[in-house]
Amino acid sequence: MPMSENFQGRLYPDLKEIAQHFGTPFHIYDEQGIKETGDRLLNAFKDFEGFREYFAVKALPNPAILSLMGSMGFGFDCSSIPELVLSRKAGARADDIIFSSNNTTLEEFEAALGNGGSIINLDDVTMIDKLPQMPERICFRFNPGADRSGNDIIGNPAESKYGVTTAQIEDAYKKSMELGAKRFGLHTMLVSNELSREYIIQTGEMLLTLSEKISKSLGIKFEFINIGGGIGIPYKPEDPHFDLESLAAGIKDLYTKFQEKNGYTPRLMMECGRFMTGPHGVLVTTAINKKEIYRKYIGVDTCMAALMRPALYNAYHHIDVLGKMDESQATEVVDVVGSLCENNDKFAIQRPLPIIEDGDLLVIHDTGAHGHAMGFNYNGRLRPQELMLRSDGSVELIRREETIDDHFATLDFESNVYKP
Ligand SMILES: *Cc1c(COP(=O)(O)O)cnc(C)c1O
Repeated sequence: MPMSENFQGRLYPDLKEIAQHFGTPFHIYDEQGIKETGDRLLNAFKDFEGFREYFAVKALPNPAILSLMGSMGFGFDCSSIPELVLSRKAGARADDIIFSSNNTTLEEFEAALGNGGSIINLDDVTMIDKLPQMPERICFRFNPGADRSGNDIIGNPAESKYGVTTAQIEDAYKKSMELGAKRFGLHTMLVSNELSREYIIQTGEMLLTLSEKISKSLGIKFEFINIGGGIGIPYKPEDPHFDLESLAAGIKDLYTKFQEKNGYTPRLMMECGRFMTGPHGVLVTTAINKKEIYRKYIGVDTCMAALMRPALYNAYHHIDVLGKMDESQATEVVDVVGSLCENNDKFAIQRPLPIIEDGDLLVIHDTGAHGHAMGFNYNGRLRPQELMLRSDGSVELIRREETIDDHFATLDFESNVYKP
């Protein structure tokens, strides 16, 4: 089952009360589960000196979550000014942030370089001249093109907008050196929600081999390689769990060989979002309408404004109906739908679920990453509150729901009429 049984054990007994206290809908995150995943990651990579995870802020940009990540020693992967601001508010300084933007503006570079700075990860060779100044340490995002395959969410490398090509990459470092760069990193991000460790081990191998090649021809050493995020989680009950320990062992073998050959190794970095928080969040919503036409529909009190993944990626999110989870329950096949005037506003399509009545609580699993954060306001729909289930069993509001005033805030402006 995707959402961990421990999280269910912590949440389900009190969920009815929590829902009564805060009202539905809400996303709720499991502090204990996030800590356990953080510990597991640190333990898997404990033999790598200087290993560091930079949490991908876009997955769950909430200050309470960022503080939790910071307390575990993790840094932050940012690609926008608001993400930089949030990370710095959580205490992040220079080395704690990697700025992996693309199609970047001057304003964004200035924000990334100022206020204590960050590790700049350039997405293109043309960005070298667009940087206000070349920092001492520079990193490039590598795109191997047709040499590697990708996956559904992120697309094939050869068709993706990201990164520097095989033909360009050496010159990118050469040019940066000429402008004063002295410390170097190499980054890539090729897959999303990938459950195969082999693919990610190959990515490590690709980066180590490339760094060796560039080191030789330019006479530089790489301080770090960053294998990106993209480690997957089991959204479907039959999906395998990602074997993190075998991933670490596979990369360790590569590092041992690299050490023997070169007498040093670059630090290993990664920037997982989904793996860190995905399974540790759920969207809790109340069934409010039942409709029987050509299909049966269960209408709930939230919509795709709170969780876009099903509509955007046709993603599967497991659903529990609270109090109706034993196997003997009669089921019926339904579509679970929101209220948006969009027919793809569905959390489940033709899913067998226990017989649902108005007032039942539905728990939509694995919304802890790219869930609330991806939300939007189309159709005047407002995003729900976020709660944190603390390790001590208390539940804390960590973001209130949006209000109509929030929604109309951008309509409050000085008149500005221009006639050419
Ligand atoms: C989105 C993103 C990540 C995180 O991806 P996950 O699938 O959540 O691990 C990491 N790095 C970059 C550059 C990204 O754009």
